[in-house]
Amino acid sequence: MKIICIGRNYRDHALELNNDVPTEPVIFLKPDSALLLNNKPFFIPEFSNDVHHEVELVVRINKLGRHIEPKFAHTYYDEIALGIDFTARDLQNNLKKKGLPWELAKAFDQSAMLGSFVPLGDRNIQDLHFELHKNGQVVQSGHTADMLFPVDQIIAFVSQYFTLKIGDLIYTGTPAGVGPVAIGDRLTGFLEGAEAFYCNIK
Ligand code: ZN
Repeated sequence: MKIICIGRNYRDHALELNNDVPTEPVIFLKPDSALLLNNKPFFIPEFSNDVHHEVELVVRINKLGRHIEPKFAHTYYDEIALGIDFTARDLQNNLKKKGLPWELAKAFDQSAMLGSFVPLGDRNIQDLHFELHKNGQVVQSGHTADMLFPVDQIIAFVSQYFTLKIGDLIYTGTPAGVGPVAIGDRLTGFLEGAEAFYCNIK
């Protein structure tokens, strides 16, 4: 399986990092070795002094597809989760300055934290609220209506380039409020008011 991530998909987050608001989706990948499951702790890697949390809605692909039309994209998923795209911001800033790819900053072990999946049911995927709490305080609060590129448009876009397979994950971008994690922090994710994961930082 592969993990497809969308960068700068919320205007307020693009602006907080002084990035332009994109006119087409910004895409990067993480390998399956990046997954961090089952509320296991996240260990801050030695190569970074500035690992940030980015809480994101995650969609799991349930059908093989390529060149998917936007109007059929909704038939390619039926479960959602909340996850964290852990980002070594110091490395990313250096790579961005040099115009180099982001993988070392984005695709390292444990960088794709993932909560449990729940059925989407008849909910509108573009009308979901989610939050990240750090040590009990709200640090990120998102509404999927604010995505620059909605989920179905993302699926249509990426499937022009990559065949989507059952079990592939799409991290759909983070709202504003990203920030560093420190040893001893506890992160908790909430999707539509229900706890979706917790993650202790070690
Ligand atoms: Zn992200």
